[in-house]
Amino acid sequence: MKKLVLASNNAKKMKELNALLAPLGFEVIPQGQLGIPEAEEPHCTFVENALAKARHAAKESGLPALADDSGLCVAALGGAPGVYSARYAGEPKSDARNNEKLLAELGDNSHRAAHFVSVIVLVRHAEDPQPLIAEGEWHGEILPALRGAGGFGYDPLFNVPEFGKTAAELDSDTKNRVSHRGQAMQQLIARLPTL
Ligand code: IMP
Repeated sequence: MKKLVLASNNAKKMKELNALLAPLGFEVIPQGQLGIPEAEEPHCTFVENALAKARHAAKESGLPALADDSGLCVAALGGAPGVYSARYAGEPKSDARNNEKLLAELGDNSHRAAHFVSVIVLVRHAEDPQPLIAEGEWHGEILPALRGAGGFGYDPLFNVPEFGKTAAELDSDTKNRVSHRGQAMQQLIARLPTL
C-alpha cells in the first residue's frame, strides 16, 4: 500500500477517503497520528489554503499528502462567506450562528444563488511543482428559513432545485454522490493512476 498523509484529523473524512482509496492501493493516515500539528489557513482562496495544508503535511511527514478546503459562496455577497465559512459568525464556530448571520446578510434580497466549493489537493512531496488539484461545485439557492435535519453547516439553508430539497433533507448517500465534495473526490480518484 502507498501511504498518503491527510492534512486533517476529521474522522469522518478519514473513513470516507480510506474507503475510496484503499481499492486503489492507497492507505490514508491522519496527520495527528504522526504528531503533525494543523497548518495555518491564511489565504483568501480555497486552493491556496488546501495547498498550504498539503505542503505542510508533506514537509513534516516526508510522505505524499492530501488536503481539502471547502465552503459556501453566495453570489449576492461577493462570494462570502467563502474561505471564512466555518467561522463566518466568529469564534467559537457555530453552524446555528453562521446560518443566522447568512440570513441577516441576505435580508430580503431576491438574488439568492449560491454554490458550495470543495478543493482537494495532493502533493507528491513538499515542493511538488505540479500538485494534483481536484475541484467540485454544487449549485443551489439560499432559502429564507432553515429546512431539514440532516447534514451539517449551511445544509438546512441550501436548496437544491433538481431535487426540490435542501442539502439537509437529502439522504447522505445522495448528498455524497452529487455534492461538491463528492465531485472533487471522483475527480481525484480518476486522476490517481497518473500519480
Ligand atoms: P472545512 O473545509 O472543513 O474548513 O469546512 C468549511 C466550512 O464550509 C464548514 O464548516 C461549513 O460551514 C461549510 N461547508 C463545507 N461543506 C459543506 C457542506 O457540505 N454542507 C454544509 N456546509 C458546508
